[in-house]
Amino acid sequence: MENCIFCKIVAGEIPSPRLYEDEKMIVIRDIEPKAKLHYLCIPKTHFALFSEMDEGGAEIVKHCFQVIPALEKALGLEDGYRVIVNQGENGGQTVPHLHIHLLGGEKLADF
Ligand code: AMP
Ligand code: ZN
Repeated sequence: MENCIFCKIVAGEIPSPRLYEDEKMIVIRDIEPKAKLHYLCIPKTHFALFSEMDEGGAEIVKHCFQVIPALEKALGLEDGYRVIVNQGENGGQTVPHLHIHLLGGEKLADF
């Protein structure tokens, strides 16, 4: 997808160290961390919203949610973390390429 910052990161056009990568997803650090540890799990396929997800997209999201628990220790999230997927304007989504925020490394405020 042209002009999508996360597609550019996935393609390697914008450098961003990958903490994990497989054929379906990457994990990077958020450039503006909102917690001591803040990661983004980014599917390699472009779609912005759950409402736009097709069967292939659903398989990829399922894969992400299967891999994330396996990465907890390596990412320093073994004491717990918060998973956030912002959707659209009211959800505060700023990058229209679906991604999963992982926040942890400290006790997070209630929300
Ligand atoms: P959202 O607001 O849910 O769409 O989340 C987008 C996130 O992407 C924000 O937390 C940004 O800080 C983060 N972000 C934007 N550009 C980059 C980048 N080049 N590398 C890493 N994280 C980024
Ligand atoms: Zn994209």
